[in-house]
Amino acid sequence: MSGTRVTADAGEGEQPVAHHLRHPCPGCATPIQIQRFACGGCWRRIPGNLRTAIARSWGRRLNGVTGAVGEHLSAKTAAVEWLEQHPREEGHK
Ligand SMILES: [Zn+2]
Repeated sequence: MSGTRVTADAGEGEQPVAHHLRHPCPGCATPIQIQRFACGGCWRRIPGNLRTAIARSWGRRLNGVTGAVGEHLSAKTAAVEWLEQHPREEGHK
């Protein structure tokens, strides 16, 4: 267990955002930064194993590991599918 630190979940996105990225979470219009997968609220809703897969493959991608780009893409796709199956209203209590 190395405990690799990844910046994917850092911050709450309070600063103005220049790039409006397509948001992966249905029903959520929160602007997110280009390098971030989702806003803080949506990111926290994603199951831990999916977040780990995204963060881990992102770290490998930064390190230039072969195949990490595709790995990161499929990890994000899995998370987007999860968000589509769990719209924001359901998770709001
Ligand atoms: Zn969101």
